[in-house]
Amino acid sequence: MTRKNTLGLAIHGGTGSFLMKDIPSYINSIYKDFFRNIIDVNYDLLIKGEYSLNIVEKVIIEMENSSLFNAGKGSLQNKDKLVSLDASIMDGKRHLYGSIFGVNNIKNPISVAKKILIENEGCYSAEYISKQLLGEFDFVSKKYFSSDKLWLKLLDSNNYLSNKNGTVGCVVLDQKGNLASGTSTGGLVNKLSGRISDSAIIGSGTYANNRTCAISCSGYGESIIRNNLAFYIHSIISNKKVSADKAVKIAFKTISQNLKYNVGLICIDKFGKVIIHQNANSMLYAYKSKHFNFNIFE
Ligand code: ASP
Repeated sequence: MTRKNTLGLAIHGGTGSFLMKDIPSYINSIYKDFFRNIIDVNYDLLIKGEYSLNIVEKVIIEMENSSLFNAGKGSLQNKDKLVSLDASIMDGKRHLYGSIFGVNNIKNPISVAKKILIENEGCYSAEYISKQLLGEFDFVSKKYFSSDKLWLKLLDSNNYLSNKNGTVGCVVLDQKGNLASGTSTGGLVNKLSGRISDSAIIGSGTYANNRTCAISCSGYGESIIRNNLAFYIHSIISNKKVSADKAVKIAFKTISQNLKYNVGLICIDKFGKVIIHQNANSMLYAYKSKHFNFNIFE
């Protein structure tokens, strides 16, 4: 089946236990404006022929730079009151990936993950950063994280935000049929020091394969890792020859007992169809593709 001239992208800002209807409307609008803008700018770049992997990095950088999410600047603290960031990225054409975990002094972990993909391919700890990459990325101090004035003001007035989920992710299909996926997180609030989330693990929180789809997950990482969720969905599509839509439903049904905590995902298949699925109360997302115009969370 031909896939020429099909393209699309989807982004997420995490699954949550709060109900969207409980979010004050002015906060809802802040998130919506942010999502709309990212989708518009990056959809145009896709039309101009930009490579999927570059769009994934670009989108996630923007989200990491905003305090609205639990990733990059807005990351929540672990039990030791420190941030510890994880990120991964995968190129569905070349099957290359890069992943980084446990960093606390890097502005954009997703860019480090992409650099690792390009230069080495693999998964690296925070130590790699200091040893190998010093000077190549924007380093930040402890004060940088969660010090944004707008965010602190929102926190003041809204209790639920102190438990925000807000992992970020992006999946893209470009004009040439290349899929890519990326995820970045500050991890679960109060997590144990040294915990590695699904967001850093290829096949769990992030996966892309030109033969099937690109996926980015959010939610309780241990459930996602236990089920190797993103790769599981890829393998259902591949082995059972079903649509991505169906594969996502099969996966959630099959592993429902292991998914007792919040889990959600965005998926774009090789035809540009976008699937949003979750067992949580809420998921922040937006997408645009040739199959669907624009869609955003309610
Ligand atoms: N999956 C992330 C983790 O387990 C958290 C999230 O997506 O909310 O650290």
